[in-house]
Amino acid sequence: MAPLAADAAGVGMKITDVRVRSWDFGPAERRFWDSTIASGPRRGFAIVEVETDQGIVGQCPSGANQANVAAFKALLVGEDPTMIEHCWRRMFESRHTTIGGDFWFALSRIDIALWDLAGKALGQPVWKLLGGHRRHLEVYSGAGFYSDGKDLAALVAETESYLAMGYRAIKMKVGWRGTTLAHDAERVRVVRETIGPHMKLMVDGNHVWNAYEAIKFGRMIEKYDIYWLEEPVQHTDLQGGADVCRALDIPVATGEMEVSRWGFRDMFAARSLDICQADPVNCGGLTEWKKIAGMATAYHMPLAPHGTEFIGMHCVGALPETLIVETYPGPYNVGWLLGPLDIKDGFIDLPDTPGLGLDIDIPRFDALAASAR
Ligand SMILES: [Mg+2]
Repeated sequence: MAPLAADAAGVGMKITDVRVRSWDFGPAERRFWDSTIASGPRRGFAIVEVETDQGIVGQCPSGANQANVAAFKALLVGEDPTMIEHCWRRMFESRHTTIGGDFWFALSRIDIALWDLAGKALGQPVWKLLGGHRRHLEVYSGAGFYSDGKDLAALVAETESYLAMGYRAIKMKVGWRGTTLAHDAERVRVVRETIGPHMKLMVDGNHVWNAYEAIKFGRMIEKYDIYWLEEPVQHTDLQGGADVCRALDIPVATGEMEVSRWGFRDMFAARSLDICQADPVNCGGLTEWKKIAGMATAYHMPLAPHGTEFIGMHCVGALPETLIVETYPGPYNVGWLLGPLDIKDGFIDLPDTPGLGLDIDIPRFDALAASAR
């Protein structure tokens, strides 16, 4: 979309609607799981949209609870959507005794739609509005799940498929109680052998362990040169997280489940992590993510945002203290719907497309959903 004329860009623009759209694309082809969460039986997608009287629509590629979005709509209709801090504050103050949960997720996703909208109104990509540091970004495949009948050979084949897509950094799941630490260490070994000694390899426990289990497993895999151990313990276990950080040579990355600057302040102060994975769709939107990121840098703590690449890439491109973009290849997320990414030798280049640069083709999604019924 061409930017609006300077005298029209955002001036007098008013929010007219805030809504959720969702689609059901039918049964999932296969189920998969990490240590704590299994994929659902159906494949779907949802977005939050903010519409204006100038025809510009901001979109967040993640859904939210309808009732919470409707409550915020009542507060935001008539407001100037480019005054994002003002809109954030209106939402926050309406429920400021509640931090976290569906209310917080709805606030986060509306905030992200406002950033998309501002980018479209100003003719600039969100990664530049957030700061604009670099456009050439390293990416990793966030996958390596458990699945029925998936043996070591299947894990190797999956890993090889990501290398063929252009990935040069791989993350895999560990910690499922249906297997043993020894078998998980074997899984890590075969992936390391598949990718060779030089590529980044991350492992993700999805907060399944106690600190002593995490330390035990971390020591079993330290020899495989692990770039980070993700969510070894629950993020609320500040002392346990700090113990894991101190015990292992592997950096601990965590924070995808934490929300708000206040939650992260406590994690940083406790030194319960080495790499901050605040996820904009959960933590309070891009507005809150940037505040958390500023705090992380004061602790010399790099950032690797958790979550969909279509938001995370804007965070990683915005600031010098970021590491790498999480992406979900194959059937694991909406990449098949909004992508694919153009990955060359492990990197992508950020576009200058205004806003988040999403290709949300609503008639196409409607048709896909109709054909699945
Ligand atoms: Mg994770």
